[in-house]
Amino acid sequence: MKRKIFPELAQRVKGLPPYLFEAIDRMKHEALNSGVDLIDFSVGDPDIPTPKHIIRKMKSSVENPVHHRYPSYEGMLSFRQAVAGWYQKRFRVSLNPEKEVLSLIGSKEGIGHIPLAFINPGDIVLVSSPGYPVYPVATLFAGGKSCMMPLVQKNNFLPDLHAIPKDSLKKAKLMFINYPNNPTAAVAHREFYEEVVTFAARYNIIVCHDAAYSEIYYDNQKPMSFLQVAGAKDVGIEFHSLSKTYNMTGWRIGFAVGNAHVLAGLGKIKTNLDSGIFQAVQEAGIEALETKEPVLMKIRSEYQKRRDILYRGLKDLGLGVEKPKATFYLWTKVPKGFDSTSFTGHLLNKAGVLVTPGNGFGSPGEGYVRFSFTVPMKRIREAVFRMRTVI
Ligand SMILES: *Cc1c(COP(=O)(O)O)cnc(C)c1O
Repeated sequence: MKRKIFPELAQRVKGLPPYLFEAIDRMKHEALNSGVDLIDFSVGDPDIPTPKHIIRKMKSSVENPVHHRYPSYEGMLSFRQAVAGWYQKRFRVSLNPEKEVLSLIGSKEGIGHIPLAFINPGDIVLVSSPGYPVYPVATLFAGGKSCMMPLVQKNNFLPDLHAIPKDSLKKAKLMFINYPNNPTAAVAHREFYEEVVTFAARYNIIVCHDAAYSEIYYDNQKPMSFLQVAGAKDVGIEFHSLSKTYNMTGWRIGFAVGNAHVLAGLGKIKTNLDSGIFQAVQEAGIEALETKEPVLMKIRSEYQKRRDILYRGLKDLGLGVEKPKATFYLWTKVPKGFDSTSFTGHLLNKAGVLVTPGNGFGSPGEGYVRFSFTVPMKRIREAVFRMRTVI
């Protein structure tokens, strides 16, 4: 017999904020269905393919039956050693590959799971906003409450730690920060990280620094790692991803490094929920971490050219925009008379240009839109040309 009523969705699902891209997805499909030649700046997913040497490694590894079985939970030691080697070379930070490196099925997986390891119902997680939507959602799933740390331009899109309410601080156990930042493209410097370390030690808060964009930088200004600051390893971990650095978003491989106790907690959750990354992908990941500099320079230089075209174009249109020092995002104020949503609709309907409304990343993003320049140069030029007639 067919059941009449299904059990209702759980509270944690019903409590989800509206999915950021739902309304945009709808508008996008309507536009596509009516034959609009859409230029899509709305998704942060590299359009450049994975470098060839990584694909070659994958092809040979997948043939090896050793990799067809369950991988180890914490990741192959050889992959974790490659991570430690990369950290040493890139940041001069030493890591114990056995205890201070954990492989992840993409960094989103680790970010999504970490609150389950440390948050009890009612505990508070400090979440920078606008930001990656997974931080507050993962908090919600663990029964915690998010306390928003607004990122505003006058503070260079760094959270003001002194502005966090004292009663929230008492219950705060975890904090998410992310530099180079999605969506604002802001970068953080040593003084900020030092402040975070002092703050976290004082209030006993675990710092989760999301460094997914550490390798997408411009003008040779390399962003630093949170772990380069003295004491950082005592208070937190850093999430990394191979997704953005090596154009591997579809492969699902990332890692977390830093405090061994925090990583062990996350590892406990993972051993009970997943079974690690396909080992052939880990082998390809090792190959990726050993990518020669010229390959990466070529990718960065492509993004840099795109950035320059888009930045110049928007600036000439009179939009309040700063030149990104890192990430493939451009965060710009909407013109007078618009808000994030109405400007997104305007660009889509009048110019066939799709951007992400800033308020979708959290209320402090209101008044902004995000362009992701994972779009070829020719199309960026075309978009700038089209926008000229509507802004
Ligand atoms: C893309 C992105 C990630 C996650 O990438 P994975 O593919 O899951 O490794 C994490 N944080 C931010 C801010 C991102 O933009």
